[in-house]
Amino acid sequence: MSAKIIDGKAISAIVNQENADEINKLKAMGITPGLAVILVGEDPASQLYVNSKVKKCQELGINSQKYVLDKNATMEELLELIDKLNNDNSIHGILVQSPPPPQIDEEKVVEAILPSKDVDCFHAENVGKMLIGKEDGFFPCTPYGVMILLEKSGIEVSGKHAVIIGRSNIVGKPMMALMVQKNKNANATVTCVHSATRNLKEIVKTADIVIAAIGKAEFVTADMIKEGAVVIDVGINRVADENAPKGYRVVGDVKYDEVAEVASYITPVPGGVGPMTIAILMRNTINSCKRHNKID
Ligand code: NAD
Repeated sequence: MSAKIIDGKAISAIVNQENADEINKLKAMGITPGLAVILVGEDPASQLYVNSKVKKCQELGINSQKYVLDKNATMEELLELIDKLNNDNSIHGILVQSPPPPQIDEEKVVEAILPSKDVDCFHAENVGKMLIGKEDGFFPCTPYGVMILLEKSGIEVSGKHAVIIGRSNIVGKPMMALMVQKNKNANATVTCVHSATRNLKEIVKTADIVIAAIGKAEFVTADMIKEGAVVIDVGINRVADENAPKGYRVVGDVKYDEVAEVASYITPVPGGVGPMTIAILMRNTINSCKRHNKID
């Protein structure tokens, strides 16, 4: 079998067209959504992510404000900035790019952002709302992006066995929560495997849908995949490659070429889940703007 490619670029373009339509409606009312993106330090991958978010805001007409704090910035400085943005009516979403330098306590940062502006859906209030299936918070960008990829690719999730590899608060755990929800686009039977799982390979092999989010280059191999399974690769890993212009190339958590021979559908890296994450961030910012302005 040769898997069909789930084209994240094309699907995110559809979501971003919906985003652009919503922004135009808001602008006709004299309202512009605003997103503040904070970067602490100079981590090159984080700079890249922040710049792509700002670029997409500019393309869509979202007012983006980028704040770059020194790598030695203190918690007090960061909390002061967050407080200012919490009280700024032109800003509807605030995010602090992860991972911050060690002096920054990420948990405290997340708690400091107003839940109504927490467009990443990291605040406990929004995570709780997502878990119980309430729609008046936010859905987390990457896991929700995966749900939209599946839905727009016409892949039935209901009743399927989904195995999620990884249990981080950003991807694995919210992915479990979204897949198990009682609604027509979810309803999966969910298993999560992680670093302490004993027979990981055997469990993954029972999956109809595999979602890999561990951050280990090409960890998932063809012998772990059931014939015809759907494989979603969340991983973004840099591996050294002296033939590549930058001296590295980006690969996922899935060994793409061999897994594509076994799977029915597969996401590429890059061009799979990545573009969806940003599209959902834009959607969350727009939804937040509508709520702050009491527009249905
Ligand atoms: P993380 O490091 O926080 O969590 C990794 C998880 O994988 C942990 O729960 C750990 O238990 C599990 N794990 C690690 N080694 C394992 C092993 N050998 N066997 C089984 N489980 C193992 O990572 P994260 O933030 O969840 O990100 C995962 C990957 O997804 C990374 O490559 C990251 O860059 C990528 N990511 C991509 C996007 C996107 O937009 N596409 C967004 C977020 C994260």
